[in-house]
Amino acid sequence: MKRSKKKIFKAAVLGDPIGHSLSPLLHQTWLQELGLLGEYKAVLVKAENFEIKISQLFADPDFVGANITLPHKQRALHCADQASPLAKKVGAANLLFRKNNTIIAENTDVFGFLDPLYQILDVQSLIGKTALVFGGGGAAKAVVFALCSSQIDHVFLCNRSQEKAETFFAEVQNPQTKLLHWDNRNQPPTAPDIVINASSAGMTGFAPLDINLAFCGPKTVVYDLVYQPIQTPLLQQAKEKNIAHLGGLDMLIAQASPSFHAFFGVKPPQTNLAKSILLVKIYAKQGGGQ
Ligand code: NDP
Repeated sequence: MKRSKKKIFKAAVLGDPIGHSLSPLLHQTWLQELGLLGEYKAVLVKAENFEIKISQLFADPDFVGANITLPHKQRALHCADQASPLAKKVGAANLLFRKNNTIIAENTDVFGFLDPLYQILDVQSLIGKTALVFGGGGAAKAVVFALCSSQIDHVFLCNRSQEKAETFFAEVQNPQTKLLHWDNRNQPPTAPDIVINASSAGMTGFAPLDINLAFCGPKTVVYDLVYQPIQTPLLQQAKEKNIAHLGGLDMLIAQASPSFHAFFGVKPPQTNLAKSILLVKIYAKQGGGQ
């Protein structure tokens, strides 16, 4: 449904931390390109205030929805009036939006994760393959669901804290998944075809992911969901070891596209302007370089 051009519809991204988020710049660029009125802000929300903040924001009739980022994606699923079948299956939501006076929880991370991967891999090429996924939060849930739905053979799940790893494994409940203890992270039982960092490690302000990619085979692809910095320590290591690799910026843009549509009633423009502006912003934050 296309929205009225006269009203200023409001949307936001909620998380903790949130200062790093590029979503406001991305959505504002798309709004400007399309000549639409609209507002998209970053809101810092502590875990204990999450539900109350959601109620406060949606109490404003002009508030059309929110993207949800770390660490709230799993709670977001439960504070909506309805969750989409996909968000329920994944067990996490990164999008809450208003539809006919109800708040719907959706997951666009699954699409956002697969879309850039399929730009470099054949859709068929995950069938029968093995993946190693680091992380145990909302992003890891979307990644594991996406991989298992792509008929991958095995997904090894590895999270730094063993307690969270076991809870995550139990929640995922999929026969394609196997738990790999953090202590064995450098010795997976087989060389994975794809290694995914779905943890916060390597993000600006977080310690790098402490792994040695020596276990990778000649055709392994390393996919880091982190997009700040663009060249994460993991991607740098992959580059040095001549391993094919992919960063998280294209996923950020791909997962934002259906959110923008849900908020403002139109698809974002199919130009590269927003990506160029995000890259300039990231490199400026890094103080030039790269
Ligand atoms: P959560 O806070 O829910 O989970 C974070 C996970 O990272 C935890 O499992 C935690 O493990 C792990 N972790 C944190 N620091 C380290 C470290 N130094 N070494 C190993 N593991 C670590 O976050 P989300 O799942 O929501 O997001 C995870 C990351 O994915 C974020 O960086 C986010 O920006 C990125 N992301 C990117 C997207 C994109 O569009 N490119 C989309 C979604 C997410 P432990 O249990 O041990 O604390």
